Amino acid sequence: KTQVIPFQDGHASMKALLGGKGANLAEMTRAGLPVPPGFTITTEACLAFFKTGNRISDELYEQMTTALKQLEKQRGQSFGDAINPLLVSVRSGSVSSMPGMMDTILNLGLNDTTVQGLANLTQNERFAYDCYRRLIQMFGNVVLSIESRHFEKLLHHLKETACVEQDQDVTAEGWKALIEAYKQCILTQTGRAFPQNVYEQLRMAVEAVFKSWNNSRAQIYRKMNRIPDEQGTAVNIQSMVFGNMGSNCGTGVVFTRNPSTGENTFFGEYLINAQGEDVVAGTRTPLAIQALKSEMPGIYEQLFTASKQLEKHYKDMQDIEFTVENNKLYLLQTRNGKRNAQAALKMAVDMVHEGLVSKQEAVGRIEVAHLDQLLHRGIQEDAIKDVLAKGLPASPGAAVGQLVFDADTAAEWHRAGKTVILARSETTPEDIHGVIASEGVLTSRGGMTSHAAVVARGMGKPCVCGCEDIRISADEKQMLAGGSLLKEGDWITLDGATGRVIAGVMPLQEARMTDELLVMLAWADEIRSLKVYANADNPEDAILARQLGAQGIGLCRTEHMFFSPARLPVVQRMILADDKEDRLRALAQLLPMQQSDFEGIFEAMTGLPVTIRLLDPPLHEFLPNLEDLQKRHAQLTYDQAGTNVERDEVANLLRKVQALHEANPMLGQRGCRLGIVFPEIYDMQIEAIFRAASSCTDRGIRVLPEIMIPLVGHANELKIVRELVDFVAEQVLGKDKLRDCPYKVGTMIEVPRAALTARQIVAYADFFSFGTNDLTQMTFGYSRDDAEGKFLSHYVDHKLLPHNPFQVLDTEGVGQLIELAVNAGRLIKPALKTGICGEHGGDKESIFFCHLTGLDYVSCSPYRIPLARIAAAQAFI
Ligand code: PEP
Ligand code: MG
Repeated sequence: KTQVIPFQDGHASMKALLGGKGANLAEMTRAGLPVPPGFTITTEACLAFFKTGNRISDELYEQMTTALKQLEKQRGQSFGDAINPLLVSVRSGSVSSMPGMMDTILNLGLNDTTVQGLANLTQNERFAYDCYRRLIQMFGNVVLSIESRHFEKLLHHLKETACVEQDQDVTAEGWKALIEAYKQCILTQTGRAFPQNVYEQLRMAVEAVFKSWNNSRAQIYRKMNRIPDEQGTAVNIQSMVFGNMGSNCGTGVVFTRNPSTGENTFFGEYLINAQGEDVVAGTRTPLAIQALKSEMPGIYEQLFTASKQLEKHYKDMQDIEFTVENNKLYLLQTRNGKRNAQAALKMAVDMVHEGLVSKQEAVGRIEVAHLDQLLHRGIQEDAIKDVLAKGLPASPGAAVGQLVFDADTAAEWHRAGKTVILARSETTPEDIHGVIASEGVLTSRGGMTSHAAVVARGMGKPCVCGCEDIRISADEKQMLAGGSLLKEGDWITLDGATGRVIAGVMPLQEARMTDELLVMLAWADEIRSLKVYANADNPEDAILARQLGAQGIGLCRTEHMFFSPARLPVVQRMILADDKEDRLRALAQLLPMQQSDFEGIFEAMTGLPVTIRLLDPPLHEFLPNLEDLQKRHAQLTYDQAGTNVERDEVANLLRKVQALHEANPMLGQRGCRLGIVFPEIYDMQIEAIFRAASSCTDRGIRVLPEIMIPLVGHANELKIVRELVDFVAEQVLGKDKLRDCPYKVGTMIEVPRAALTARQIVAYADFFSFGTNDLTQMTFGYSRDDAEGKFLSHYVDHKLLPHNPFQVLDTEGVGQLIELAVNAGRLIKPALKTGICGEHGGDKESIFFCHLTGLDYVSCSPYRIPLARIAAAQAFI
């Protein structure tokens, strides 16, 4: 079976087999672009390697050597040859992009003999030995797992003894001495010598890349980005070209458009006389690509033209690595460039206007996670006083947090509930857990394509990098910035959009919708069939929801209207009433309050449906805490504190609260159970709704109320409450007005039994709204309040469950109940309206499921609406 495929034989469509990088290298080669030749070892070979106990099979090894022979022919060089040696790079290439996660080895094929050949060939001994020491260092680190600090220490020592500051100033003799020291280091650390046999080097390197698929940072990244572990990685073996052979050489990274702003301008960075990792690692701060125009005009033109060609070919912004070797341009790789949300939108909108992609393609391309980012926070400008330093604006958004100087502390403090900013000289993939734990990242070295910048952008975290004005000392846990000394735990603010580092806690400002987002949302609305409603409980949220594009309100939780300080005492009086008379008095006080809220909401949503849910949660949520009361009672009784009246009052209150107390309140006296046992409560709410409807209708507002009954588990429950609604509606509105106010009565489906008996329930329902929070709770039998902290995160971590089912709908189980209820309901009432109003209504995957199941709408919190509109369109595409 073929496990090795030369670049010229591959194709973009073979991505699953060749990985993203390999497929692109093949595609570029086919397009006639200047790509150094090479071959790809397939992901299948990687999986076979794992299956056979991490062993490279004889078959694979044979195919590798055959491909190598062909490569030797193409380049006119020989692997391991003393006179004209072929050198290769070995890189991982996964199917889904995993920046910085996997390992790369350059200059493979050098040993004590071939290095001399390279020196002779290039007439540059210094260069050859520099390549060799880099190989040993990378090989030692990646293949032999020796911590890089060992090598750095030796390098540092060398430079110190030679009194030079820059790597470029080290002489050939210096590198030779370092190579001996490196070899000694490998011998002491591993007990084995650095392999002189180049085939052994190759075999070990390929093994290491395969194994790095399972290193912990790759695993963390996959988990975060939901990349399946079974994908495996391809390995690309490519002949080396050198950007570090002198001043007519260089290397860099370009983006066909600006990845921060999305502008259609050529963007990138390069370094003269350097190798690729110098740019990515951020050890030297590179120049803007525009400078290349004057430095190497011919190369710049060729690069620019090739980049445009690639963008057109892939119909997307490209991130291209290039190297110039003796004034000749080579493209090392291209891929769809990472970008932040605003840039992604701008590019997509521009590309539609340029005729490069269709509206559907543009909408389909939006990453829903990006939208979260887009509604980004900034700093309130007038509050900014003490700008400590300015770096590169690597990833937009503002972040406030306490300074930490290493990833472990960041993770630890985050776990302890602190908000942190991670400050490092530069970050490496080893810092990934720290980056995840931080609000934002600050580095003093490295450019816009450095590790910190790429990773933070991908996560949508604010990042300021290459901030050379600050000096960070991780050992002393402090940094010097703008003349101030800041220590671990000090508060700072980062502005990733401008690169500013600001002392103290700055007030932040929430994001606004950009023009591009509005255009894209309008396109999404043209495409989608699924409607998007909002969960909103007050007029302000309703107004916001409508601005964000809500087509109705899918859930107004009326109990949320009772929590204000002015209302709570009245609600408590209502609940604790000794008799019906008492309760009615309290309810009479609540009625005008509810009515005015409803009026505000109807007004905001004129012409659109407003789903109002009658009171749902257990009453104890409105009452004083039982334990506190017991303590207070004990105090009064045993210490003889307070007056007799006080004592009686507390004793009385305690008795009532005890009487209402339930062992299992989520399965207790809540939802329609409450409304059925105490009909006067629902009676008041229904009256408030229709009074509000009446008064709004009088003022010319078009009101479409949909009254929703919570926690129904048996058809008879809905039957009773529906009768009450119809009765009160007619009483309040009278026959004539009733005609102007077409209302609906429906039920939440959130108890599994309701889904199972949907055929019976639908007789009394005009709509079904799936309350997937409770439905998930009751289907799994997981407490929605406690499960996460107890066992659920363990389950997710250990992959017992693919996701937290309270975030991403469990389509397999809970989804079955939804499908069942929708089908059963529609069988009897084909026009039955159906929707979802649990948290899942704002989750992309869950929205896809809702679309496929044929629901009419999803309802989510106002801020999720743009996301839901896009996801609904994507589900359609
Ligand atoms: C639900 O259960 O999904 C729901 C929307 O209601 P609540 O979250 O208020 O229980
Ligand atoms: Mg519920």
